[in-house]
Amino acid sequence: MLKTRIAKLSLFFWKNQDSEVIHATLQKYSAYFRMLGPSDQKRFIYRVALFSRSMKFKALGDHAINSQMRYLIASGLVQITFGLNTFTFHHFRKILVTPRAYGYRGFKDKLLGHVDYSNRLITLSWANSTHGFEVEDDAHNAVLHEMAHALEFEYRKWLKKLYNYRHKGGILNLIISVTLPKRYMFFDEANYRTWLDIARTEMHVMKMERDYFLKDYAAKNIHEYFACAVEAFFEKPKAMKAAIPQVYLVLGKLLNQDPIDHNKPRLN
Ligand SMILES: [Zn+2]
Repeated sequence: MLKTRIAKLSLFFWKNQDSEVIHATLQKYSAYFRMLGPSDQKRFIYRVALFSRSMKFKALGDHAINSQMRYLIASGLVQITFGLNTFTFHHFRKILVTPRAYGYRGFKDKLLGHVDYSNRLITLSWANSTHGFEVEDDAHNAVLHEMAHALEFEYRKWLKKLYNYRHKGGILNLIISVTLPKRYMFFDEANYRTWLDIARTEMHVMKMERDYFLKDYAAKNIHEYFACAVEAFFEKPKAMKAAIPQVYLVLGKLLNQDPIDHNKPRLN
């Protein structure tokens, strides 16, 4: 919360120039941003400014962080949470940016990005971040994918804490359990439970069907299913709604968005 407050305070000194750089970056790379109406674009820019100020960015390898990197990467989280009231992290603190796909620990293939929950880090390859937005309709977007992971991991952390507070009893714990969701939690609890039910059922279907709509990687576990579903939700919404309508609808409810209707990105 303190992190968000400091970011909000720093926005008092926000120059118009920053807003122009954010606008130009998103106009260049983000199909989602280009489709929004003027007032939603303004709100989107404000959220990008605030979120990018709430995180530390660090370059890894032979390059340096620039404004485009900060704003485009921040836009991934803002896009996913655009229908929600919470749109900053409290658990994750730092975003590391590599110039291109990178080798990591025992992984056979090079990574486009990954989330390190215990060290509170999100790492992304810049070459793959821009590519993900430039090819806007293939359901492959490294920034959306990793931000979806971070978002879900962070939500589950607060959900666990919420259960603990409820379980402990006492008036103070009751007050915390009522205020926690508003300040820290991205999703509505009941919607998230429905999402898990549908996702689990779909993962069984996926194992039996050869040509399931989502990419194969979604079958790895329930968190990969979520991250891959988020990529498809924004990059192939019409095809997703036709192929796996129940997944599209429950994800739309969870994120409070319908990407097919650009004039009204928030459902309510
Ligand atoms: Zn993943």
